[in-house]
Parts: sequence; structure tokens; C-alpha cells
Amino acid sequence: MSEAAAPSRPTSIGVLTSGGDAPGMNAAVRAVVRTAAHHGVPACAIHEGLKGLVYGGDLIRPMTPADTGGILHRGGTVIGTARCKEFRTREGRRAAARNMVDRGIDALVAIGGDGTLTGCDVFRREWPELLAELVEAGELSPEAAAAHPELRLVGLVGSIDNDMSGTDMTIGADTALHRIVEALDALRSTASSHQRTFVVEVMGRQCGYLALMSSIATAANWVLLPEQPPAADWREQMCRDLRAGREIGRRQSIVVVAEGARDVDGNPITSTEVRDLLESELGEDARITILGHVQRGGAPSAFDRYLATLLGSAAVEHLLDSAPGTPAQLIGLKENRVVASPLMECVQRTRAVADRIAERDFDGAMRLRGGSFLRSHNILRTVQQAAPRRPVENRRRNRIAVVHGGGPAPGMNAAVRAAVRLGLDRGYEVLAVRGGFRGLRRGDIHEMSWMDVSGWVSDGGAELGTNRFVPGEEDLASIAEQLAAHRVDALLMAGGWSGYESAYVLHSNRDRFRELDIPIVCMPMTISNGVPGTELSIGADTALNNIIADVDKIQQSAVATRRVFVVEVMGQRCGYLALLSGISAGAERIYLPEDGVTLDQLTADVHALEENFRSGKRLGLIIRGEGADPVYTTEFITSLFQKEGGDLFDARRAVLGHIQEGGDPSPFDRVHATSLTAHCIWYLAEQLETGSKASAMLGFQSGRMQFTDLTSYPVLIDPRTRRPREQRWLARRQLARIMGS
Ligand code: ADP
Repeated sequence: MSEAAAPSRPTSIGVLTSGGDAPGMNAAVRAVVRTAAHHGVPACAIHEGLKGLVYGGDLIRPMTPADTGGILHRGGTVIGTARCKEFRTREGRRAAARNMVDRGIDALVAIGGDGTLTGCDVFRREWPELLAELVEAGELSPEAAAAHPELRLVGLVGSIDNDMSGTDMTIGADTALHRIVEALDALRSTASSHQRTFVVEVMGRQCGYLALMSSIATAANWVLLPEQPPAADWREQMCRDLRAGREIGRRQSIVVVAEGARDVDGNPITSTEVRDLLESELGEDARITILGHVQRGGAPSAFDRYLATLLGSAAVEHLLDSAPGTPAQLIGLKENRVVASPLMECVQRTRAVADRIAERDFDGAMRLRGGSFLRSHNILRTVQQAAPRRPVENRRRNRIAVVHGGGPAPGMNAAVRAAVRLGLDRGYEVLAVRGGFRGLRRGDIHEMSWMDVSGWVSDGGAELGTNRFVPGEEDLASIAEQLAAHRVDALLMAGGWSGYESAYVLHSNRDRFRELDIPIVCMPMTISNGVPGTELSIGADTALNNIIADVDKIQQSAVATRRVFVVEVMGQRCGYLALLSGISAGAERIYLPEDGVTLDQLTADVHALEENFRSGKRLGLIIRGEGADPVYTTEFITSLFQKEGGDLFDARRAVLGHIQEGGDPSPFDRVHATSLTAHCIWYLAEQLETGSKASAMLGFQSGRMQFTDLTSYPVLIDPRTRRPREQRWLARRQLARIMGS
């Protein structure tokens, strides 16, 4: 079959979920079906994974965008998954090829783990031969075979372990982290009431991602991972550390054990062994909790819904755009970009980590995991100590002050905790400013000790207090005086818009007030994600999870009616929360401050809703960013829809308000707050140690942590709209449009 005979587009796209289920798989299926429909290509769901391919019949059914309504928030996979030994045989795959050609399916989006992706790639490579065998056996006409000369394949990784090369995050890992962190938070409260020790086993045979990140997010006292075994004397070390924790007043000890944890000789370290050791050596009442399948369950997190939607949609775009003969690709998210990588190379790299672990080449395994994994492990080891490492030196120790500015952002306490511990550990004195820059002006500045921040990692709100005060001309002298009085050598500002403005005010007046000429670093902590120098701010992930949890409930409340909800979300003049929550919650229409609202649009939206409800829709969701338009308010839009909906639907309004900035920070926000703070402390340390006064804004750019000179602040923002000039996430508007259509 010549390549030239290959059709430029697939006739029909099949989607299947296979292997272990993972939360977010439904969002991926929905995105595949909706994106295919957007491009006019029919889609089929292959139920029960690869088994559906082999058995065909009713297990392969067309799926329309309407069929994907109401599945986004559901855990597991609504199209089912199963292991299938027949697919490992050529006969099984031949039956699968026939079932596909019979239905005109010649492109496949496979969502699963490395087993599924490997099996599908075998199938793709064999496809022409399988079809030839079917023609020869008289089971397929030569014309049908000629119409589908190749099988196009893309893979998405659905796996809670986050163990796959080719993507920084797998679909399901963030939700699993949510489940583990919820459990660890709950255990911590009971452990501290009884001064008990818990040994918690989490999933991860070859990959310690869940164990490591959940330990950072919950301040676990020890963690045992598959790819980084502890030193040979780990038993003594662990007992010594936990004993030291008790001595300084820690009421609970938690040891997290990844199920694949092992020692340097490659022998498994089990939770039973750890428990027995703690009981015999420390005389502790130690309990084991094995989290098991709970980790796979429940509603997908906001991130998993977004990630799966993004990747599912990109998978279809890739299938439609790729030239005939393109090898199978894995679509993943790397450094915050959607990336296609050769599928089998990813599988081989993933397996190489397992091989390294099996060969006890742990450094090699860690290298393959990447630098950020190793850095996270080192940060955890520092913050979980019972005391700073460095002895107090005779010379004067530099003093770093931490201050917030802007609205409260979940994760602020985790950041202060990390700043205090990492700063003290590096030999600095760490000061906390209470009440933001107003507190700085009045000298509300306090020296912090190691245990002052105990337990802060999981607390919502901002213990130090934060506000939107920005120093004016008249405040500068007092601030300079306080900085001098408290001998502040460097400043870490963890906050939002007003915090950035305040930091810049100090920095730009450093020539006039010598005391202001100190290194300052700004760290993005704002639920609205509207500060410069970063693509992502801490706090936004918690806010998104708060929003989708509420929207799920709001939608459930309307099961018996035909209704449109207009939900107003926060974000002031920045539409990040609106756009991302709209994608994650499945909104038909999203109104952003960046776009504004026009009468023509509203009219078109009313007509679109009418048409959808006429063809059977029962529930509509509109998300409006609070600053979308001063005239077309949430109330106005709801009234308009209510009036125009007539007998077709009614409309209700929900303003979520401050719920969005409350609650315990999400695992992401805790982990990012900790790691970003570490980078800030390292930055300030570098300035202090070299005598530099440079100041910067830290952020994620292309998924990496980057510093931008604070002097460039004015050129990076638009003072009229009070937004950063560059907002890369706006590129996701197209995805929202496709999903909502
Ligand atoms: P995961 O996709 O989560 O890694 P498995 O390893 O159980 O899960 O694989 C899921 C299915 O993929 C298997 O039941 C089998 O049908 C198919 N499969 C796995 N490896 C191969 C292979 N080498 N050849 C053919 N099919 C395979």
C-alpha cells in the first residue's frame, strides 16, 4: 500500500481507556469526542478497554458531544477498563483490526499506562499485515483494507503514579495526591491528639512521586522512596530524628512509605518493618495505615480535569494534523506546554528507571527522574529536621524578613514555614512581618524560631496577616527606619498585586533611602494569578478546586429542572480563574475581563443556549469573571437568560465569593509554596553572600522557575488594566470554545 494512498484525515477516531483506571480519564474522553466533532470527524468509544477492541459488537459505539455531558466530574472511567490477555496474541489483535475497519475507525486515542501504550503500538505496527491476513482469509474486502492503510495512534498517560516519561504529570496523579493529603491531614490530627506514630503506605512501586509530594504537603517526618533508598544506617537515623522531634515537642510522627520502598541493597522496606522498629526502638504506639485503592477514587481534581481536557483535545488535533506514516506519539505536558514525543521512546525511558532501580543504580534512577525530584527531596529533608543544621556562628548573621501583600492566598503559611526553616538552616535569622507593608511601616516585625511554624504547611489563610496597603511617599521614611531598627538585610515578599507594587515602591526608592537598598524577592501568591513574571501563582490551584467543588454541587442541585447557572468567580481584572474553572467545570460560555462582554455576544449566546436546550440539553453552565464587564453584570446576564429562556430553561445566579480563597491549601499549592520559597531563599542567599543588592520576581515561565529583575516591573504590567502585559494562559480560550460548543 503506497503512502500516497493514505487519506489525509482519519475516517473515524476511536478512544479507549485501559489498564488501571485514573481520575480524569472521563475528561480526556470528553475532550477527544468534542474536539473530533468540532473538526467534523465522528468518534467512537471503545468500552472495556482493549477487550472492547477484540470483542467488538456493542462494546464499540459512536459517542457524540451530547453523550459526554455530565461525566467530567466523575471519578474512574465511564467507558470502562479491563485487562485483556487476548490482545497480547496476534489473533486477538487481528479481531481488533477487523472490528475497527468494520466501523471505519482508523485512528486511536489510547489512554492508559505503559502496558496499554505498548500493546497499542504493537497493534499499530502490525496493522497492514493484520489487514492483509484478514483479506486473505476472506474476512475483509480488499477495498475496505485499502481505505484504511494505516492506524494512527496517540497515547495519553492515565496513571496515578506519575511514572511516565514524556509528560511532567500523568492524568490522575494530582487527584491521587489530593486523596493522600486528605488522609494524611486527618491522620495528623488524630496522631497529635494521642501523641501517636503513624506509618502510612502509599502507592508507587517504581515511582516515589506520590510519597514525596504528599510528605512535603503534610510535613511528614520521614519518607521512604523506591528510587532514593536511605543510607545503610537508616534505622538508627530515622529513630534518632523521630526522637529528636518528640524532644522539641512534636506531638505526632508520620512516616510515609511508598509501596516500592527499598534499602540500598534492594531489599523491600515494608510498613510492618517500620512499625515494628518504631515500637521496639522508641517504645511508640505505632499504627499502620495502608491507603490502597482510596488513592484511585473520587472526583478528579481541577488540575486533572484541565490536564485531561487539554491533552485529549491536543491528541485529536495531532491525529488530524500528522502526516501519513507518522510513528505513534505520546501527548504530554512538559514545562507547561503540550508536547508530542515518540511513544515508544517514552515507554523505554520509563522502563529504564525501573531497570536502574532493579540494578540498584539509584543515582541513575534519580537522574532519569529529573532535577526537580531530587531538589524536592533535599528540601523535604531540610524542613522535616527537628532543628537547623548550622551551628550559630560568632559573626553577625544576616537577617531575612518575610512579608505578605495583597489578598490572602492559600499556601501563604506553607511559604512562611519554608522560609523560616530553610533560612535558619542556611544560617540566617528569619523575621516575620505581621500585617503586610502596613505592619512593616509600624515595625510589627518578629524573630521566628524553628518550631514557631510547626504545622503551618497545611493551614489555610495567612497567619502573618495580609492586606492591600501599598506604601506611599509619606510612608517611606518610616519603613526605612524600621528596616534599619530591625537590621533587615533582605526581604522576601510572598503575595499578589499590591505586594508586587509595594516591593517595587521600596526598590525604586533605594537611591533616596539607603535602608531600602537591600535585595528583595517577590514570590507570586494570589488566587487570581494576575502578577507579572510568572505563568502560575500559588493559591490559584486551591481556588480552582474550591470553585469546581461548589459548581459540582450547584449542578447536582438542578437534576430535576432545565436550568442555566451563571456562576461568578473571583479574579478581579484577571480572567485566569474564570477560564480555567470554566474548562475544568465544563462551562458552555466563559466571560473574561480580558475580552469584555458585548450585547451581540449575549444575543448569540442566548440563541446558542436555546438551540442546545431544544435538542435535549438539561443543564447549562456559564462562568463569569467578576471583572468581566461593569455593565453586563452577573445579575444582568442571569435576568436576560431567565427572560429569554422562556419555557425552555430558567436561569439562576451563584456568586461564589470568598469561599474561593478559603480552606486548606491544595497539595499543589503547598508543594509549590515550599519549593518556590526555597528558590527565593537561595536567591537572597546568593545576593547576601556576594554583597549584591539585586532584586527579582520569581515565577514559573515555560514551567521552570525563573527570576525576572524587579526593575522591569513597570514594563511588564499595564497600569490601566492592572494586569500583566503577557498572559500566556489566554491561549487556552480556543480550548474552552471547543469544549463549550
Ligand atoms: P497499564 O496500561 O496500566 O500499564 P497493563 O500493563 O495491565 O496496564 O496493560 C493493559 C493491557 O495492555 C493488557 O491487559 C494487555 O491487553 C495490553 N498489553 C500490555 N502489554 C502488551 C504487549 N506487550 N503486547 C500486547 N498487548 C499488551
